[in-house]
Amino acid sequence: MINALRGMKDLLSTQIEKYDYFVKNASKIALNFGFEHIETPILEETALFRRSVGESSDIVGKEMYEFVDKGNNNICLRPEGTAGVVRSFIQNKYDRIAGVKRFFYHGAMFRYERPQKGRLREFHQFGVECFGESNPYEDINIILLLKEILDFFKIEYTLKINSLGCEKCLPPFKENLVKFLSDIEDGLCDDCKRRIRTNPIRVFDCKNKSCQELLLDAPRLGVSLCDECSKSFNFVKNFLLEANIKYEVDSNLVRGLDYYTKTAFEFVSTEIGAQNAVAGGGRYDKLVKFLDGRDTPGIGFAIGIERILNLIDLPKTEKSGYYFGAMDENAISLVYKLGVKKRKQERVEIAYNPKSLKAHLKTADKKGMRYCAVIGENELKNHQVWIKDLVKKEEFLKNIEEF
Ligand SMILES: [Zn+2]
Ligand SMILES: [Zn+2]
Repeated sequence: MINALRGMKDLLSTQIEKYDYFVKNASKIALNFGFEHIETPILEETALFRRSVGESSDIVGKEMYEFVDKGNNNICLRPEGTAGVVRSFIQNKYDRIAGVKRFFYHGAMFRYERPQKGRLREFHQFGVECFGESNPYEDINIILLLKEILDFFKIEYTLKINSLGCEKCLPPFKENLVKFLSDIEDGLCDDCKRRIRTNPIRVFDCKNKSCQELLLDAPRLGVSLCDECSKSFNFVKNFLLEANIKYEVDSNLVRGLDYYTKTAFEFVSTEIGAQNAVAGGGRYDKLVKFLDGRDTPGIGFAIGIERILNLIDLPKTEKSGYYFGAMDENAISLVYKLGVKKRKQERVEIAYNPKSLKAHLKTADKKGMRYCAVIGENELKNHQVWIKDLVKKEEFLKNIEEF
């Protein structure tokens, strides 16, 4: 017997119903916010992620499904969604056209990591990206869009925000931080020691308790933001305050790559335990330029769909559609023809074998059908079809022609 690969799962039954329900409604909300659908390939050149997600990240360092194809190209399964959308934005020359472009996407992502609860090797994300808008109103817009999606599905969360600075205020801060980290290097974990040279900002992301304690006195970017960054961060905070949207400023919320700028945020579920971000995002004003496009500001977010599915309740579905069954071998072809006709208007199930009325009614009910239409010997003789409305519990006969 062949099983699905480790860390990969079939989506079926209630899970796929929830998945479709989520994607359908999240897409609708994104469309209302002026975002258009984009679908990018699952396979991309490995170089795209090496450059955009960064060599020093765990994703690129350890977790990519990377291989050489038959044409000798180094390619990989996308580990996240933003890089492909930015690649497409530049390739289609949208960076050369003035104006704002907004996209939403959803689909499978792949990371080769140790499978554990809530973490799969194939998982799905719903994300949005906005290009060409540096106004902090767009930061608010993106946060409100994400909030509206989570609110629609009645998901409880805490909103955490931070500012990551810009090309003016980040480099001097980094220098300061490296000095501080070098002094306490001996006490840090191996990962953090490596980060001092590769990606110092990411130390704030370390889950190690002793590292976190040592970092209590570390310099924080929030206090050394330049005027422009601090103005835009205050704008976002004031807006949230006035709109009565609760938030926490979390100076440990970092991305650690130079093209991530200004606003960063995370929605952490209060239902699935601490440290469980269901969605996160922020500005990446330097990413388009970094990937050889024209300097264009960008901002977006991604939602981990699997993390959300367990928090979603499906709406109660009402019985609908027609079930067709025959009680006599001779009625089957007529039953089939009626079913085919009805199928042009609504959901239809057709039974191919004659069964008792009781058995037909039971199956129709099990399949969530509203009507059970049956033809037996008598009905066949009288050119009629017997129908039961399983909601109103009413039975009636109809002439075939009329039906
Ligand atoms: Zn700045
Ligand atoms: Zn550490």
